[in-house]
Amino acid sequence: MPQHSPSPRPDISQMETYVAVKPFEVMSEELGRDPADIIKLDANENPYGPSPRVQEALSAYPWLHIYPDPQQEQLRVALADYVGVSMENIFPGHGADEIIDLLCRVFLQPGDSIITCPPTFGMYSFDAKLSGARVIEVWRDEDFGLDVEGIERAVAVAETPPKILFLTSPNNPDGGLVSHATLRRLLQLPLLVVVDEAYIEFAEGEGSVAGWVPETPNLAVLRTFSKWAGLAGLRLGYGIFPLALMAHLWKCKQPYNVNVAAAVAGLASLDDLPLLQARVSTLKVERDRMYTALQQIPALHPLPGQGNFILCRVEGRPAAELQRQLAAQGILVRHYDKAGLRNYLRISAGRPQDSERLLAALSRCTELSTSS
Ligand SMILES: *Cc1c(COP(=O)(O)O)cnc(C)c1O
Repeated sequence: MPQHSPSPRPDISQMETYVAVKPFEVMSEELGRDPADIIKLDANENPYGPSPRVQEALSAYPWLHIYPDPQQEQLRVALADYVGVSMENIFPGHGADEIIDLLCRVFLQPGDSIITCPPTFGMYSFDAKLSGARVIEVWRDEDFGLDVEGIERAVAVAETPPKILFLTSPNNPDGGLVSHATLRRLLQLPLLVVVDEAYIEFAEGEGSVAGWVPETPNLAVLRTFSKWAGLAGLRLGYGIFPLALMAHLWKCKQPYNVNVAAAVAGLASLDDLPLLQARVSTLKVERDRMYTALQQIPALHPLPGQGNFILCRVEGRPAAELQRQLAAQGILVRHYDKAGLRNYLRISAGRPQDSERLLAALSRCTELSTSS
């Protein structure tokens, strides 16, 4: 038998293993609960699921044995209408995550760097490092506000100019928005500014900046069907890019990155906007109601977020313990205990009955441990 064990790149050999969330089926077995009896508020998924037209369109679709259209023309026509930019500026992907990865591979080589603003979504630094790039972290302030001057300074002092600035609006995990004025200022910097709008459908305020892209050569906007349209499991996202950049992305993508099921589901979703938008409105009401109710619980300090989730600082007890107590009652939430996110819970907006159970369980857990 040969004894040689092939070595990957040194940086990958030394990389830590990514710990993913447990699959829902495994969680259900561990908790001894039927999946239907679990309230899953830990990954910002849409509890209403996809539009019923998605199921219908998928069962009726006759060409599962034929490769998808590499250019996804039909989907891009529908998306152009939904987003309000030309289809020439729209690039579909296997989730927004795939597009973050592709952007990193197109822009970064060893020695390059990106700027992220933690606490934020983890995939920007993950994918940048996979491309051999360095990650410059410009931390947010205590209220999760961006340090705009810090970003400008980081660009000014860098030996080689950073290539990409990743912004997230609304930001995950706190739900805060990047104001249009701030974005205008940051677009003056000599790098590509990527605005991740995964949750923009849930936000009140100045709205999407996707419409700026065709006139702004250094702006890209990322979107997804995972949250507002309830398609997280099917994987469908897209980016809006200036034409000059589109050409390079087309060259580098896997030809069949978007599978036919995802494309069919995306089209069926865009064909059922009134229903999906009504659900988004219901989730926003639930998010705001949950925020108000969480404020009444003394141990909890929620932030007013614009995504489909609320970030909440926990005081006087470990957030992890609260998370475990909720899980024992079949309610899954996300907990954080790391730099910049000490002792926090992030709770996705659910259906009204989910909020009822969550809030009752939270009051019970926090009262119990106060009186003991
Ligand atoms: C969920 C999420 C995504 C991932 O979107 P997919 O289309 O499911 O890959 C991207 N960005 C942020 C900020 C997210 O929270």
